[in-house]
Amino acid sequence: MPHSVAVIGGGIGGLTAAHELVERGFDVTVYEAGDRFGGKARSMPVTEGPAAGEDPLHCEHGFRFFPAFYQHLPETMARIPFEPTGGTVADNLVSTSETLVAAVDGPEQVADLSPPKTPGQWIQSLQPAFADELPPEDVTFLTERLLYVLTSCEQRRAEELDEQSWWEFVDAEERSPAFRRRIATITQALVALRPRRASARTMGTIYLQLLLGQLDPTEPTEHILNGPTSTVWIDPWIESLAEQGVDFRTGAAASDLRLGQRGRRIDAAIVDREPIDADDYVLAVPAEVAPNVLSDRAQRADPQLARIGRLDTAWMNGIQFYLSEDLPLVAGHQVYTDSAWALTAISQRQFWNDEVFDVGARGDPAVEGVLSVIISDWSTPGSRVDKPARECTPEEIKTEVLAQLGDHLNREGERLSEDLIHDWVLDPELEPAEVGVENNAPLLINTAGSLKNRPDAATGIENLTLAADYVRTNSDLASMESANEAGRRAANDVLERSDIRAAPTTVYELTEPGVFDPLKLHDRMRYRLGRPHQGDAIRRLLPSGPTGRPAD
Ligand SMILES: Cc1cc2nc3c(=O)[nH]c(=O)nc-3n(C[C@H](O)[C@H](O)[C@H](O)COP(=O)(O)OP(=O)(O)OC[C@H]3O[C@@H](n4cnc5c(N)ncnc54)[C@H](O)[C@@H]3O)c2cc1C
Repeated sequence: MPHSVAVIGGGIGGLTAAHELVERGFDVTVYEAGDRFGGKARSMPVTEGPAAGEDPLHCEHGFRFFPAFYQHLPETMARIPFEPTGGTVADNLVSTSETLVAAVDGPEQVADLSPPKTPGQWIQSLQPAFADELPPEDVTFLTERLLYVLTSCEQRRAEELDEQSWWEFVDAEERSPAFRRRIATITQALVALRPRRASARTMGTIYLQLLLGQLDPTEPTEHILNGPTSTVWIDPWIESLAEQGVDFRTGAAASDLRLGQRGRRIDAAIVDREPIDADDYVLAVPAEVAPNVLSDRAQRADPQLARIGRLDTAWMNGIQFYLSEDLPLVAGHQVYTDSAWALTAISQRQFWNDEVFDVGARGDPAVEGVLSVIISDWSTPGSRVDKPARECTPEEIKTEVLAQLGDHLNREGERLSEDLIHDWVLDPELEPAEVGVENNAPLLINTAGSLKNRPDAATGIENLTLAADYVRTNSDLASMESANEAGRRAANDVLERSDIRAAPTTVYELTEPGVFDPLKLHDRMRYRLGRPHQGDAIRRLLPSGPTGRPAD
């Protein structure tokens, strides 16, 4: 009998596990509670209003961003055929070349994302963003903090740095207001990190990866997709896996993983009130759902399962505007630095391949452009409505988002006006509630001290593995990349315990410049001896020495 695997949850984590397992000869079934695959990464056809219609436009939770340090996702995508072009879905990744950084009270900037070529450009790239707006001592201090992370050994990062927030680590309260506003919040704009709550370990590591990505002359700094995510990636993925034999079930919500009498193995999963039986179970549901599916007995069988419930989530959801005129603005992302709701956006049509997904030929022909906006702060009152986004009606959210964008974009002449909005769709996972909206798809955030609560893919239950973005991974950030790495780790664990002889799938390390390895090694010895970080050595690397808090 082939070795059967039930994958519970059809997001990026579950689909990756299914992909790696079916390629190695396992008999895989994916059970997905919703009606579409792809989880938080999926796009969905618009169902009402002008953007709907026979051949509808798509909406999504938020736009997709693939920074240069992603290794697992591009490799998986290069193994998914894309029939319309005869290539793979990895060919649908296109690079951006600019980022619009719009402020209400300062000059609008367009950051060039191309890698540095001249010595002058290199020196410029090594400076933190907005360096010219910050007091020099803040710039030196941030450089020192980044070097502290870069030269810390793994154990120091996992224990000392994970236990403090990025906000504390960069001494944000004691720095200049410009530092707080610009530096401490810039990563929040593009990735799911909250500078006040995220651990210094995750934020420091990812900040460095984003910075290093910009310096690598061999790769573009970031990619995005050339069409709606499901059209150019997820749907072809499902088709290809189905052809390889994966059985896909939708509307199949798991409510319990039943632990056998001896407490060592799962003996059935309850899906849609019916028991289903498999040799192995890969649980690939979000962090806030996993504790409901894992019984108390299962959670007692492996304490790391009980700790999943302690992980934190936050809201990060999108709203899409369908415009009667295209408004490209810049060839990349847009960051609205002092918007109350931490808005970021992208004008999508300029990147979309008309032959694959022609905006002009879908939904209402009057739609010429698609502006996709993500709201990352749902708790701060708006600048027009005196309440946070989560307490607003969808209509109020739309009006306030447009006002906040307008405050940034229309300072020297109107670029975005109400007249341009032909239709709009708020993330369908947000549902009207008694007060404001409810969110069915919050996003994990790696808060200070949370690493100890994040489980490994392999669990203490013999035939249960985990494959979602909260699993401990090298990629670390709540992202499609982490979910993919988790799916690979889960597949390797299933493979190792099976009779199937096949090579495991690759799990990549994050790469950091080797030049710092001797200092990391030295730090490892110091850490083992209970000694503080080698702050003095770092200070010697800096041109003028830090003027902020000493490193140790
Ligand atoms: C607005 C927004 C923007 C983002 N942008 C980016 C980005 O640009 N780049 C990036 O890398 N990441 C981004 N992310 C993060 C990324 O989308 C997620 O981290 C990743 O998709 C999570 O994948 P997952 O498989 O772990 O979980 P999910 O995507 O949550 O998938 C879990 C699946 O399980 C299903 N499920 C739930 N309960 C059950 C049940 N009981 N039984 C069966 N199935 C169940 C769900 O329906 C879902 O399909 C973004 C997230 C958001 C919200």
